[in-house]
Parts: sequence; structure tokens; C-alpha cells
Amino acid sequence: MGTSVLCLEQGPWMHQKDYPTNFLDWESRAMGPFASNPNVRRLAQDYPVNDSASPIQPLMFNAVGGSTILWAAHFPRFTPGDFRVKSTDGVADDWPIGYQTLEPFYATNDRMMGVAGLAGDPAYPYHEPPMAPLPLGATGNIVASGFEKLGWHWWPSDSAIASRDYEGRAACINLGPCTSACSQGAKASTDITYWPVAQRKGVQLRTGCRVKEITVRADGMADGVLYYDQDGVLQEQKAEIVVLACNGIGTPRLLLNSKSPQHPDGLANSSGLVGKNLMFHPYALIRGIFDEPLNGRRGPGGCTVWSHEFYKSDPSRGFIRGYSYEGTRGAGPAQEALWGMAAGLVPWGEGHHEAYARLHGHIAGMVAITEDLPEETNTVTLDPELTDSNGVPAPKVTYTLSENSKKMLAHAVERGKEALSAAGAVETWAEPLLRPAGWHLMGTARMGTDTARSVVNEWGRAHDVKNLFIIDGSIFVTSAGVNPTSTIQALALYIADRIKQNIGNLFD
Ligand SMILES: Cc1cc2nc3c(=O)[nH]c(=O)nc-3n(C[C@H](O)[C@H](O)[C@H](O)COP(=O)(O)OP(=O)(O)OC[C@H]3O[C@@H](n4cnc5c(N)ncnc54)[C@H](O)[C@@H]3O)c2cc1C
Repeated sequence: MGTSVLCLEQGPWMHQKDYPTNFLDWESRAMGPFASNPNVRRLAQDYPVNDSASPIQPLMFNAVGGSTILWAAHFPRFTPGDFRVKSTDGVADDWPIGYQTLEPFYATNDRMMGVAGLAGDPAYPYHEPPMAPLPLGATGNIVASGFEKLGWHWWPSDSAIASRDYEGRAACINLGPCTSACSQGAKASTDITYWPVAQRKGVQLRTGCRVKEITVRADGMADGVLYYDQDGVLQEQKAEIVVLACNGIGTPRLLLNSKSPQHPDGLANSSGLVGKNLMFHPYALIRGIFDEPLNGRRGPGGCTVWSHEFYKSDPSRGFIRGYSYEGTRGAGPAQEALWGMAAGLVPWGEGHHEAYARLHGHIAGMVAITEDLPEETNTVTLDPELTDSNGVPAPKVTYTLSENSKKMLAHAVERGKEALSAAGAVETWAEPLLRPAGWHLMGTARMGTDTARSVVNEWGRAHDVKNLFIIDGSIFVTSAGVNPTSTIQALALYIADRIKQNIGNLFD
């Protein structure tokens, strides 16, 4: 007999026909109802996030498919060393599991998501993406040429974007702005990759259902949830096992909102670590202006090449751990105009057209994704006043950029400019800390074997509540210097597998 699985999702199903690139005003739609900041979007399914005490704004999307509706689909794995930073660098903690444990789940997930890439990257253990890499395009080639001239590591990105027709998904046709959702359906978002399979297997999905709290029995075990249905009516759902996948902000919010006499500080919080150790990846944006015409917004925005040249610790650089570079293309005409004006490169009034023409379609660059180390003072807490539309307390993010991150970002900016100059940029420009870049949400319910220093065990089960599991970025111990989603998904598959293996004696 199979397991009966019900998923409650506060957002709706999305439809490709509604996505911005179907419309002439796609850029303004991308900055409105498809903005990645819920405080800008303010859709009925969104909850506000108080980010006034953070230099980085948390970003997410609330719908079936979650933030993968908007994500860029740059799809690096963690490297084996990323799971062992305490052992190698004496900072943070080692993970209780390693790359080898996750390897088969990374591979399954690559097939499920449909990953395009090139086997053989020396920065990684050998693995074969199921599809050929996406074309680098003019921007990818030019950034790669800079890395190449300096003798740096670079490799075509693994991208969760179909480079050919793949399992019902059409190949990418370079519509461009992946981060406003993919009208072509070439980009993997979990509503079109995992959900059709899950529904065929009988998983039920109730949309427009916002979970308020997880309820517990007298013995402290979870026994279900209270949720508001799409009419705003509070409903109760009983369950034998509760699995949380609300992301690194939504999950601690829900745990902290689930207070009971058995769990007075919030569910699964005997360690006091729920909501602590929040990690983003502080991002720097480095851009070059080139004389030659480039392919502008054409092509997936962030999936060209990556470089791990400065990925591992080198004491001579003055900071611990490191960062990766991800090549980026240009943007749409309105976005490039807005950016050019904000950057002081395009004046308003006289000279506007000339300056804009020099920028538009002439930009290539990169972002640096720096490893954020966990600190208990970087937190998700419940805001004492702010609530969502159902009156559930909203999360507040309190985050300070560390000295280590500041040094890493400064290094990344200087070296990135050097690479773009080597590639032939006539001018370089950088934003040393990108504020709207809190798209990676990690660490707020960390994994570990020591119950005093972690929230879940080495297979995602809450130490305090044996039938509660967490399968999102909250359980990360450290953040690595690459995007997290490949690892979040591999972890989710691994934890599901462990639940299945142990179902007979799960609560012993
Ligand atoms: C603009 C953007 C670009 C990105 N680019 C990349 C990239 O290139 N590479 C990469 O690796 N990652 C990227 N990411 C991050 C990536 O999208 C996330 O890591 C990934 O989606 C996390 O998956 P998740 O399921 O843990 O959380 P989410 O995808 O955020 O999903 C959480 C879901 O839980 C639902 N939920 C939350 N609380 C409740 C509640 N109380 N009741 C009911 N439902 C609830 C939400 O509605 C949402 O659908 C990007 C993100 C953004 C926003």
C-alpha cells in the first residue's frame, strides 16, 4: 500500500500563458506581479517580510513551484569540500553527511529537473548532465575569454534549462529573462518537473491553503496542521508525519508560530537555534561595457559559465573560504536604462540617448556568489506587529554582513573587473553588495548530530519531534559559494528515501 501524501501550498498554480514574456510590457510586469521581492509584489498569497534590519532583501515566490517559478536555474552542486569546512578551515561546522551520500540523489534530481551541462569540470567529481550545455552566446564567450586570458578556471554552467526537447518540455529559445518565469517551459520549475509525476503517483495538492501552525499531541509529537483555506476559513488537517518545505524563512516562521505547552519556544526549538544562523550568499555584481554588440537579454540571464578560481581558502587573500563567479548576460531595454541611470552611466536629459546606446546590448559581466558563514546573530524571528492577510505573524530578518564577507566581496569585485578588462571591456563597473539578492535562504534549522547545536538530525528529522521533517535550505550547515537549489533538492530526495527506508520503525 502506498503512502497517502497531501501538500498544502499557499499560492496558486501558475500558467505559462500569463508569464511576462508573452506581453509587450514584459519588463514592467517583471517588476510588478512577477517581482521576486514579496514586499514589492504583495499578491494575496504572499506574506510580508520585515527586512528593515538587513542589508540584503530576501526574495522568493509563493505558488506551486515556489521560487523556482522565478529562479535563474543556474545549477551547481556543492563540492565535496563544502561539507567539511570545520575540518579544512577551522570555521563553522562540518555537515553530518557528505557529497558521496548525496551523489545518487544529485544524479536523480538532474534527470528529474532536466539539466544541461558539460561533463568533466575539474572543480567537481565527474558527473554527466543529461543534456548538452546551453550555447554560451556572445556574452558567455566574452566572459570566458577574460577568464581564459588570465588562466583561471572556467566551465560552462550546469543549468536546469532544456537545451533540447526534454520530457515534454520544449527547448530554450532564448526568450531571455528567466527570472520573470519561463513562458516556453524550457526552464525547470518544480510545477512542471516534479508535480506532474507526483500527481500521477497520487499525491494530493491543495492550493490557496496557508499553514498557520503545526499542532502537537500530548506527548509533543506532531499530529497535523491548522491552515487557512482559500476562503480564509481555519481548517484542521491531521497527519502521521509532517514535512516542511517552506524555505529558509517560511520554515522557521512556521516553527516559531507553532508554540504549545510542550514546545513553549516554538516547535523543534529546544536547542534555541530555530531561526538562527541565517545565511544568504552576499552577491557582488560586476559588469563590463564592450564596444562590440553582444546578445543583450537574449539567452538565459545567468547560465553561461562559472569559475571556481577563488573558491577555496587561501590565507594570502585575507579571508576564509571563497566564492564562485557566474557569468551574466545583459538585460531588457528598460532595465538597462534604469540600471544605467542608477549607476550614473546614463544622464537624464542631454546626452541620454548616446549614453544609453553605448550601454544597451553592450553589457556582459558576472556575479560573485560568496560563501556566507553561519552566525547565530543573523536571524529570522517573528515580527511583533507585522502579519500576513490571515493575521499570522510575519517574519523579521536581522542580518549583518560579516567582515569576512566584506573582504571577499571586495576581492571579487577587483578580480572580476580584471577579468572583464582582460576580455576587452572598455569600462567596468561594480556593485559590491547587491541588495535585492536574498534569493538563497539557508541555515535557520540546521542539521547535525549534536541535539544542543542543531535542529534536525542527519536525515532531516527534528531532534525534538520524531515525526517532523524539514527538507529545504533551512537545514544547511554551511552555505558553500554556489547556488543552493541542486543541493536542497538532492537533500529532499535523500530525506524522502530515508523516511521510506525507515518507515517501519520511524518513531522508535
Ligand atoms: C529571482 C530568483 C532567482 C534564483 N536563482 C537561483 C539559481 O539560479 N540557482 C539556484 O540554485 N537557486 C536560485 N534561486 C533560489 C531557489 O529558487 C530556491 O533555492 C528554491 O526555490 C528553494 O526551494 P524551496 O522549496 O526550499 O523553497 P521555495 O521555492 O521558496 O518554496 C517554498 C514554498 O512554500 C510555500 N509556503 C511557505 N510558507 C507556507 C505556509 N505557511 N503555508 C503554505 N505554503 C507555504 C510558498 O508559497 C512556496 O511555494 C533563485 C530564487 C529567486 C527568487
